[in-house]
Amino acid sequence: MLTVCQESEIRAALEKELNRILMKTHAAVDAEYIMLCAGLEQFRGVFSGDCLSGQIPNLRKSITIELDVRAVKILQALRRINEHRYGSCSRCGKSISFSELHCDPTKELCVACCQEYNEMREN
Ligand SMILES: [Zn+2]
Repeated sequence: MLTVCQESEIRAALEKELNRILMKTHAAVDAEYIMLCAGLEQFRGVFSGDCLSGQIPNLRKSITIELDVRAVKILQALRRINEHRYGSCSRCGKSISFSELHCDPTKELCVACCQEYNEMREN
């Protein structure tokens, strides 16, 4: 079990990383979006205008989803904190040490379960 102090330290780290991702996501998506528009601009006249404007939102969505995977993990960790489930393995229920959580605050599995999971995935 984590102390109140450790938990608030983890929570602050999670929130900080989430904010950073969200800021980066917006900046990256805007940059990609601009490049995309510039690239597609060359094809105007080849495709109809409707065809182009139909493509851009889809491409924009796929870029955002990829960057949001980590954000989702962080939100799930924050939810586990709020529901007092944080810090125990979601598979076997054993507690995960503070030093491990400090390395990766989104960690959901204990060392043993994590190892088993990786071995299972390799086979
Ligand atoms: Zn476990």
